[in-house]
Formats: sequence, structure tokens, C-alpha cells
Amino acid sequence: MAKIAFIGLGNMGGGMCANLVKAGYTVAAFDLNPEAVKGAAAEGARAATSVADAVKDAEVVVSMLPAGKHVLGVYFGPDGVSTHALTGTLLIDCSTIAVTDAREAHAQAEAAGFLMVDAPVSGGTAAADAGTLTFMVGGAAKTFEKAEPILKGMGKDIFHAGGPGNGQAAKIANNMLLGISMIGTCEAFNLAEKLGLDAETFFKISSVSSGQCWSMTSYCPAPGPVPASPANRDYKPGFAVAMMLKDLHLAADAARAAGAEIRLGTHAESIYQDLSERGHDGLDFSGVMKDLKGDISH
Ligand code: NAD
Repeated sequence: MAKIAFIGLGNMGGGMCANLVKAGYTVAAFDLNPEAVKGAAAEGARAATSVADAVKDAEVVVSMLPAGKHVLGVYFGPDGVSTHALTGTLLIDCSTIAVTDAREAHAQAEAAGFLMVDAPVSGGTAAADAGTLTFMVGGAAKTFEKAEPILKGMGKDIFHAGGPGNGQAAKIANNMLLGISMIGTCEAFNLAEKLGLDAETFFKISSVSSGQCWSMTSYCPAPGPVPASPANRDYKPGFAVAMMLKDLHLAADAARAAGAEIRLGTHAESIYQDLSERGHDGLDFSGVMKDLKGDISH
């Protein structure tokens, strides 16, 4: 089985790295945070001391980093992966980054003799821990075939979305829709309640009617109908406002560059921006519901 270097052992990467170990891969793990490296070592990975140490004999590099600048820095910056990994190594970046940054990374990887896919994920930390993530993968078909078995060690559904950057394109278009549908779901539950329906009754009707969507049936923003949803634990994330805002900024930037009109996407971005500016970055993104009820500070 391939030797893997895993870089970025945060909320998502920690569980993903542990699942690769469980799947039988030999994994060297690195993060700037030594505690995160210790955590990965406790799960059976080798604790690497630097990017160079992690990738020195790796056949595959997997990364799960905060944003595009970290990804470009880790792979192509001074002392980065491209300086220390063997030519021909497969690079799999699972972070959520701009389509343009992903395409830049592909171009630099190709110029330096590496194979690369962008493979952002859907599903939060619970799916990362359980190994049930959905991967949306951009890159050449042959490279996708090489990456697929490794992604299967961390996920359930693996999709080839097309050429370089298309994984990121699928991810941000999907998450823009999620942001919009969550706000719409919050408004519908709030309206129904103000008109005299309790949440359970409205859920029973709408979840099998034309308003049905994932934000309602799997992540209901009103307390009650879906026990696992953050609404039942005072909107602790889950998927925080700051994360949704990051994805909506990426969607807005990409839409501007592509000349695509996103009227509701832009509006959703301004709603989450407002929540963020009022100090609610750490609230779950379904906390729009709490705001509509006037239950959080202005
Ligand atoms: P996180 O901040 O918990 O983890 C990122 C890790 O990267 C940190 O441990 C940090 O120390 C490490 N890091 C940063 N720069 C580094 C460097 N130069 N070298 C080595 N390590 C470095 O973030 P997360 O929640 O795990 O998210 C990671 C990515 O996954 C983001 O792009 C995010 O948008 C995406 N994502 C997150 C979720 C979620 O629910 N958390 C869901 C889907 C996608």
C-alpha cells in the first residue's frame, strides 16, 4: 500500500489521517501545531517534524489546510512539498480553496513533474471522523483513478467532477446553495410559527411537500424535528457561520470572475457577513433562525 504524508491535522484532517491509518496505509503526519501531530501519532501515524520529513519517502501527499495561501505555501513555498517530494508523487489537496488557487496549484504541480487532484469534501467533522465524507475531485481522469482508492479510505462517495479546479467549483456551488437554502428554511419555519404552526407540524407537512430540502430534513434549524441538528444544542456548530461565510466569499469571487449572476448567493453572503461582524462567527450557520427570532445580540 502507498506511503502517505498527511499535512494539516486540524478538526477535519485529524480524523481523515486516522482513517487512512485504519485503512492500512503507512502515514507520516505533520502540522504546525505539535499537539495535533501528537494526536495523529496516538492514532498510529508517524510524527513528522516538518513538511520535508513527512514527504521524504511518500508516494502520496494528502493535505487539509485552512485556505489557498496555506496550500500554495505548503506545496510550492520555500522548503515546501515540491522541493522535497520525489517527482511523480501524487498530490491530493482536500482543503476548500478558490478555484483559481486550485488551478494555480495544478499548473505548478504539473510544471514540477507531480500528479495532482483537488479533492474538497462535503460533510463536517463527524463525517471526517467516521470516514463517510463526500469527495468532489478535479484533475485528469488517470490521476483521479490513482487518487480514488486513497479517498475511499476517508470517504463514502467519490465523484470525478472534471479537470483541474472542478472539484472546488462543485464544492462552492454546492455550499452556496446550502447557505441560500438554510436561510430560506429558517425564514419558512419562523413565518409558519408566527402564523400559528408549531415546528413539528410544519416539518411534517413541508418535509414531504415541495419546500423539502436537506437544510430542513437533515439539519432542521428549528429545535425539535431533527434531534441531531445544532438547533437542539443552542446552535453550537456543526458548521460555523465563519466557515459558511468563507465558502460564500469563494463563491462570490468565482462568480465575479466567471461572469455568473448570483443574486441570492450575494444576499446570503451579506446575511452571514452581518452575523460575523456582530460577533457570531462561532454560531452554527443554522443560527440564522435564532437571529430571526431576535434571540442574539445586534
Ligand atoms: P483547522 O483550522 O481545524 O485545521 C487546519 C490545520 O492546518 C491546523 O491544524 C493548522 O495548524 C494546520 N496548518 C496551517 N498551516 C499549516 C502549514 N503551513 N503546515 C502544516 N499545517 C498547517 O481547519 P478544518 O476545520 O480542519 O478545515 C480544513 C479545511 O477543510 C478548510 O479548507 C475548510 O474550509 C475545509 N472544510 C471544513 C469543514 C468543517 O466542518 N470543519 C467541512 C468541509 C470542509
